[in-house]
Order: sequence, then C-alpha cells, then structure tokens
Amino acid sequence: MRHKIKDIAPEGSVFSGAIEGEILDEAWKGTEVERARSSGEASYQLLRSGDEVLLHGRMKATLGLACDRCLGATTATVEAPLDVLFRREGSVEEEDVEGDLDEADYAEHDGTWVDVGPYLREQLLLAIPMTHLCKADCKGLCATCGQDLNVADCGHRPVGEGSALAEQLAHWKQSHKQ
Ligand SMILES: [Zn+2]
Ligand SMILES: [Zn+2]
Repeated sequence: MRHKIKDIAPEGSVFSGAIEGEILDEAWKGTEVERARSSGEASYQLLRSGDEVLLHGRMKATLGLACDRCLGATTATVEAPLDVLFRREGSVEEEDVEGDLDEADYAEHDGTWVDVGPYLREQLLLAIPMTHLCKADCKGLCATCGQDLNVADCGHRPVGEGSALAEQLAHWKQSHKQ
C-alpha cells in the first residue's frame, strides 16, 4: 500500500480495494482475530499539497472471532474513518507535533513514497471489538460440564447467588406452578 508521491494527480488520486494480505497478517498477528476468516478493504483519496500528503477515506473489515461465552465462530464487521497527514520525515520539529494537534493523525513519508501500511495496521488493530458474542443473548458454556447451553440444557445450574440464569429459572418454575 505504497503510493509514489509524484504520481498523485493534482486533483487527488483515489484508491479503492482490498487491503494487502501482508498488512492484515501483521495487524492481527498475536490477536484473537482468526486471519483465515478475516478480510479488509479500504477506499481513500490522496491529496498533495507541497511536501504534505493528506489521506482521507474509510476502511471496512470483517473479523473472524470466537464468541466470548460459547467460543463458537462469530464475525464482526467494523468500519473506521481514515484521516492522516503525511509529512516529509525530518521536516517537523518535535514541538510542532505536540500542542493542540493530535499526534496520532500524523505520519511521515520519505519524500518519494507514501506508505499507508503502518497507519492501516494500527487502524485494523484498533478496530478489534472489546467484546464479541455470537448473539446478544448467548447462553455460553456450562461451567460444570462444558455443554454449549445454546444447543442443549445439561441440567447443571450455576452456584452463584442471583445469577441471571438462576433467577430466570426460578421465575419460570414459579410461573409454571400456577
Ligand atoms: Zn456464543
Ligand atoms: Zn453442565
């Protein structure tokens, strides 16, 4: 995902397509994302102004994950804006970057190439959701025997007082007695 700066058209150049597999590999290496079931695409415009190159666009990724509760396969689709200003390396003094500008929205280029890869990697890593469930009301696995409670009820009950499941069960039994 490198673009030659001198090839950026005066009115801006547009990129739209799949994010290179190598970038996805690096972004999700060591994370819970299952690479084989995951993909990402990006579309953005590059605008050049003197020594600076502005990138503006969006990315979308489909992440293969395991459900937090039942460990079943689930997917999450995430979208994120892409906004970053590339400046020629060494052209910016450290103190200029700080202040009221967000350092994260800046990257450097070497004067010849704009390499979008590192920025995309970071965005792909940040896009991984904190929680992922196969469905909002996933019942999870039985703590006693490991049965997937979405599939069948093994009859074990959580010991914990006031657990949601125990409460529901008590309520259900009550309503069926009457
Ligand atoms: Zn689940
Ligand atoms: Zn059980």
